[in-house]
Amino acid sequence: MVVAVASERASIKVTGPSLSPSRAADFMQCPMLYRFRVIDRLPEAPSAAAARGTLVHAALERAFDLPADRRTREAVAALLGACWAAVVEDRPELATLVDSADPRALDAWLEEALRLVERWFTLEDPTRLEPAAREMYVEADVDGLTLRGYVDRLDVAPDGRMRVVDYKTGRSPSVLFEARALFQMKFYALVLWRMRGRVPTLLQLVYLGDGEILRYAPDEHDLLAVERKVKSLWAAIARAGATGDFRPSPGRLCGWCDHQSLCPAWGGTPPPLPERAAELAVDPAVAGDPGPAED
Ligand code: SF4
Repeated sequence: MVVAVASERASIKVTGPSLSPSRAADFMQCPMLYRFRVIDRLPEAPSAAAARGTLVHAALERAFDLPADRRTREAVAALLGACWAAVVEDRPELATLVDSADPRALDAWLEEALRLVERWFTLEDPTRLEPAAREMYVEADVDGLTLRGYVDRLDVAPDGRMRVVDYKTGRSPSVLFEARALFQMKFYALVLWRMRGRVPTLLQLVYLGDGEILRYAPDEHDLLAVERKVKSLWAAIARAGATGDFRPSPGRLCGWCDHQSLCPAWGGTPPPLPERAAELAVDPAVAGDPGPAED
């Protein structure tokens, strides 16, 4: 079987101002982080958790290539090796996460992914699901701004009701952080509403780290609020791009930030702002590439 992973994403070319939920979340978390990622395009060290997430997402997507009655744990587990090979082919830097000198290292790596796949089977029964789309690219125009992203899975009932499903390989958030987790899903719901003229019935976050599912039924009122939020966020991004004022917003996530040594909040000095910072801030493709990778 030929397994394609992230290269499918790279083939999508967006031109003009655009925003994904990942980059919107970056700006909301910390404007300086947004700058480092979107304008300075600073490299980030490969993350084992993110790479494992990519691998598990690929296996769960490919599971649905199998006939429904053959979507067993064993069959999906058997996809992991080929999926990892495809992930590494697409992003060779991730190969460093597995010690190639240790013959047991790859098995151990796949074993960790397998635990997440097995947990999925305790939460959903893929033999009873027939997704309308997987890894679906979605985009919609909102007043000249392209909202875009990838939906892990879209289920559509015979009567047209839509369920948007996203897999998370980490643990579910506490109640305090649920709104942040749901922002991404509401963003997708807004895009799908604009694309299809119908509000998705259910948003479902499947947390494979601890076996929890977070569900939310959005309505038009919710999604109009998200649209307003995205527009004001966009105006703030454009303003920061025009003035070069991307303020750091230090918090508990700084510990996971690759750019602490350059961050003014931690005594660092950012690189000089590129000449085209104002353009790059709002149009990730202006430099001739699609911009930073999306989660
Ligand atoms: S270290 Fe913290 S404040 Fe600085 S850019 Fe990273 S997330 Fe923002």
